[in-house]
Amino acid sequence: MVETRDVNRPAPTLGILGGGQLAKMTAAAARQLGCDVLVLEQPGRSLVAPALEGDWNDPAWTRKLAGLVDVVTLESEFVNLPALEAVPVLFPGVATMRLVQDKLLQKQTFAGAGLPVPRFADTPTPDAVRAFGFPCVLKKRRNGYDGKGNATVRSAAELPAAWAKLEGDRHALYAEEFCDFTMELAIIITRGRDGAVVRYPVVETVNRDHICHIVKAPHDDPRVADIAQRAVEAIDGVGSFGMELFLGRDGALMVNEIAPRVHNTGHYTIEACICSQFENHVRAVFGWPLGSPAMRAPAAVMVNLLGAADGPGMPQGLTEALKIPNVHIHVYGKSRSVRGRKMGHVTALGASVAEAAAAAQRAAGLIRFGA
Ligand code: ADP
Repeated sequence: MVETRDVNRPAPTLGILGGGQLAKMTAAAARQLGCDVLVLEQPGRSLVAPALEGDWNDPAWTRKLAGLVDVVTLESEFVNLPALEAVPVLFPGVATMRLVQDKLLQKQTFAGAGLPVPRFADTPTPDAVRAFGFPCVLKKRRNGYDGKGNATVRSAAELPAAWAKLEGDRHALYAEEFCDFTMELAIIITRGRDGAVVRYPVVETVNRDHICHIVKAPHDDPRVADIAQRAVEAIDGVGSFGMELFLGRDGALMVNEIAPRVHNTGHYTIEACICSQFENHVRAVFGWPLGSPAMRAPAAVMVNLLGAADGPGMPQGLTEALKIPNVHIHVYGKSRSVRGRKMGHVTALGASVAEAAAAAQRAAGLIRFGA
């Protein structure tokens, strides 16, 4: 645990709220540029050293981190606003986080900026959901992730169970029209402190049990980057942002949501792009020039490695998987595998998406977390 900062040392220090895999990959990019890194994470939980061990939802701790570093950023959108307000130099800033943390406010902001979003409404009561109509997707306004704050409601008969599941009497919910999409798309946008923007390739994402499973790059759709850039500008975002969209059967695009941070759908950029989402995030928050998001290979595919069962944090099958060419394997170094937990990922580069997908899936199939 670091308590003091050597003021004679000129290396800029990046503070990160959270010490998970996103912080770890950001820290690697920051260190490549000569920066020091200090994360704030709960005791014994950080994947990044050094770590200040404390609660990133407590303003006393975030203020303490801010006093030890030059710039603070975050790896999770769920840090509460008082803790963020205690940080004088924070990117993305408090105003951006306030707009994004509440999914209803986020949708209202994007709709106000003229971006395509599914029809939505605030639904403080079950009657308001009935008035909105079915089928719909009922969502928690705050703190939903990996689909845990969502329920698809096909008819009025399904509403009581969905309302109870999401604890609608205790949590604010809103409703969205059910989008009958053919594909989910995503994109990383990085915006600098000076407003400069870089747009990564559009990717197709395949989710499994509401968790990102496969990311395929590139997906050719010239409309997506414009929408995402306008969205990041609408929330005055600084840093790397991941935006998810639906491609409807009618060909229309709808914005699903934006994450105010580096994103799972951008992990492929580490090996596949000239400057990764992580490096560009570091460049953005320090106010440095942004790097090129262009791809180094015609195609790249990323597959997430989830815990198959409870067990050790190191996987079986790694040595076999390492024999496959053009595959980059990331093991996050978590102490324990838990079923469904994100334990690592693989990215394969190739001449085509099909070729990269075959290599990435072969490698992922050989690696198993949990006994
Ligand atoms: P989370 O923030 O928990 O990841 P999302 O709002 O992104 O939740 O939704 C998770 C998944 O649920 C989406 O990736 C999509 O597959 C599905 N989903 C979300 N909203 C809708 C919608 N309006 N219509 C159809 N499916 C949806």
